[in-house]
Amino acid sequence: MTDDQQQSARASATANVTPLRKPVKCPNCAHKSSRDAYPFCSKRCQDVDLNRWFSEVYSIPIVENDYGMSED
Ligand SMILES: [Zn+2]
Repeated sequence: MTDDQQQSARASATANVTPLRKPVKCPNCAHKSSRDAYPFCSKRCQDVDLNRWFSEVYSIPIVENDYGMSED
């Protein structure tokens, strides 16, 4: 392999690296986001938001099947 080939191989390898995402404000606490927990600043804020999302889902009234249509 010539030096030239090695250089182009290295260039294409670095081209595959995904660009860094720009830090954004954490939706939970407005701190700078971290790459690990994007778009949140930390795992904690990620969990907080997830829990909030779940509790909102659970607070949506569920239409229950109590019209006397049970198959008993
Ligand atoms: Zn946060």
